[in-house]
Amino acid sequence: MRIILLGAPGAGKGTIAKVLTELDGSVQISTGDILRGAVQAGTELGQKANAFMKAGDLVPDELIMNIMKERLQEPDCKKGFLLDGFPRTIPQAEALKTLLIDLEMVLDMAVSLDVPREEILNRLTTRRTCENPACQAIYNVKSSPTKIAGICDKCGSKVIQREDETEEAISHRLETWNEKTAPLTGYYEKEGVLMTVDATVTDDVVKAIQDRLNT
Ligand code: AMP
Repeated sequence: MRIILLGAPGAGKGTIAKVLTELDGSVQISTGDILRGAVQAGTELGQKANAFMKAGDLVPDELIMNIMKERLQEPDCKKGFLLDGFPRTIPQAEALKTLLIDLEMVLDMAVSLDVPREEILNRLTTRRTCENPACQAIYNVKSSPTKIAGICDKCGSKVIQREDETEEAISHRLETWNEKTAPLTGYYEKEGVLMTVDATVTDDVVKAIQDRLNT
């Protein structure tokens, strides 16, 4: 499948992407995970992105498109991909459209994950992420805690609260999302590929996507 997952931070894009990858071997591509990995590794990309990320601002489109041009040409994308956190702006969506034409890839759909703002805030403040850049498993102190407090079940690394998940950074990220990313639903509606789902329950979203793919 070739799907874009749209939704505010905390809407569940990463969680849903992980479930979908298990269905047909499509890969999850999270620009946030790629950037956090680059920051931890101290690469040039990481150094350029770090300040934007800490403040909850978007990283410039050009840097993001350089990442995605390379990533979408890797062999594991042949089976399909789930884009999680990309595109985030109209210029990124337009650049992606051109890129997919060049790569002769057709998008199945853009899924907009609808979650009430209160639930989003609740999820983000209680979310914890594995600090190992190769793992980045997601937990929630209330709904899906680690078996041993503070330790990732999958790789044994430390599980932390992301620097951009303080109350202040979260409210700034949500503002940025409203201003820059929310308009993408209109863009994909015009493209004729938008599906909007109530994303309060992960399993319901996965089922809705499967049903749409099978029609
Ligand atoms: P995420 O994990 O998707 O919430 O992304 C974390 C942070 O990485 C965002 O707050 C941005 O600073 C940056 N980021 C991730 N994806 C993008 C993107 N497509 N465009 C611009 N910035 C991004």
